[in-house]
Amino acid sequence: MTAARILIVEDNEKNLKLLRDLLQFHGYQTLEARTGPEGIARAREAMPDLILLDIELPEMDGVAVLRVLRGDSATSGIPVIAVTASAMRADRERLLGAGFDRFVIKPINIREFPSVVASCLRQNTPGT
Ligand code: MN
Repeated sequence: MTAARILIVEDNEKNLKLLRDLLQFHGYQTLEARTGPEGIARAREAMPDLILLDIELPEMDGVAVLRVLRGDSATSGIPVIAVTASAMRADRERLLGAGFDRFVIKPINIREFPSVVASCLRQNTPGT
């Protein structure tokens, strides 16, 4: 079985590096984008198994990016985890209502994060 490929869309270099290092440590392949439009383009060309999508992106925020991904039949089936700095209940509900599969809150809990990723991938693997 080949390693799952995960696209990280994150504008903050420190967070991007943390996510990349964590995912690679756990055996995943990573792809990167630093803006919403770049993330959409990368998702279309690479068809990753999962997308980690920062909500607080300049110009086009994560919710707007998700809307485009879900509206395109090529990318609508890719699971997307929201990564957000907001721990407020109203914001979490807004994200799940927008159609994100999961969300994780910054700062990332490095012990819990791998199981969130793994369970999201499992749920979206056909035939399991
Ligand atoms: Mn950000």
